[in-house]
Amino acid sequence: MTRQHDPHDRGSIDEFKDGLERFHVAITSAADIFQRFSRALDVALQDHSHIDTKDCRACGKPDLDHWFTSKRDGTTLCEACFTVRCGTGLAKEDPQ
Ligand SMILES: [Zn+2]
Repeated sequence: MTRQHDPHDRGSIDEFKDGLERFHVAITSAADIFQRFSRALDVALQDHSHIDTKDCRACGKPDLDHWFTSKRDGTTLCEACFTVRCGTGLAKEDPQ
């Protein structure tokens, strides 16, 4: 008759507790890393959405800090193109 490994003997329980403690430490560090990563991701996504916001539809100038939206057709224009449109009467500011 061969001796079977008994998972409930004292040595296995200590081993299990030790493993559990190591696992807890690993999980805690992983959670910490995840939190840092999550915060970095939030910032990156905010920056990304800001970068993606506006390109001039007329001349294609990207990443506009200031832009104008045509009230007639909703196109996004840089200041230069908006001024040109105003000058030629294709876009008009609402006087109100
Ligand atoms: Zn433009």
